[in-house]
Amino acid sequence: MIVAERKKFDELLEAVSTYRRVLVVGCGTCVAVCLTGGEKEAGLLSAELDIASQINGRDQVFDTACVERQCDREFLADLDGVVGQYDALLSLACGAGIQFLAEKYAQQPVLAGVNTTFIGVNQDVGVWDEKCRACRDCVLTLTGGICPVTLCPKGLLNGPCGGTIDGRCETDPDKDCAWTLIYRRLEETGRLDNLQPIQPPRARSVSNLPRRQIHAAYERRYSAHE
Ligand code: SF4
Ligand code: SF4
Repeated sequence: MIVAERKKFDELLEAVSTYRRVLVVGCGTCVAVCLTGGEKEAGLLSAELDIASQINGRDQVFDTACVERQCDREFLADLDGVVGQYDALLSLACGAGIQFLAEKYAQQPVLAGVNTTFIGVNQDVGVWDEKCRACRDCVLTLTGGICPVTLCPKGLLNGPCGGTIDGRCETDPDKDCAWTLIYRRLEETGRLDNLQPIQPPRARSVSNLPRRQIHAAYERRYSAHE
């Protein structure tokens, strides 16, 4: 899932200060699961902004809407009938959802209500851990299901750096070295041979950004338009 955290309230209050009618738009998927931008959080933020606005003597209106996924045109269409009534949209979706909202309603100012933090997992109640950096060349089969690109601060692909100390990371002694974890996992599962092949350097070019993925079943459909 994509994990995000709400921006500081003062930053949001400042961002909406010049708009009279603001629609706070939640997203019902990842940001709802990480308790940041779902229907409930959108309602709470709307109420907070309303109270702060009144205290500051401003004449503003804050309403709330929530769509299933802001990163999906089909669900964004649910907002078609209402966005025109507002001077700005304050999105609580991840960065992808915010951009899609701004693209679809390009005539409206769209404001970011959250900071998107990472792709991760729900470790415990209210706790999320980063697990993947979407590098598009996954090595998890070789590394025992532990990602060195994410867990090692240097993103090393061929074993630990010289700084590892007693299985801990040199950048943070409270954290296990990713490569110690990988070694132990491979040892436990009888796959230490996985460490033999040298992994080549990754292509770090940024010229292919932003990336696009087309499902194989739809390739002919979209190549026909090129
Ligand atoms: S190697 Fe790590 S960052 Fe790359 S896709 Fe796999 S889990 Fe994600
Ligand atoms: S100690 Fe391990 S996790 Fe830390 S930077 Fe070196 S290889 Fe990466």
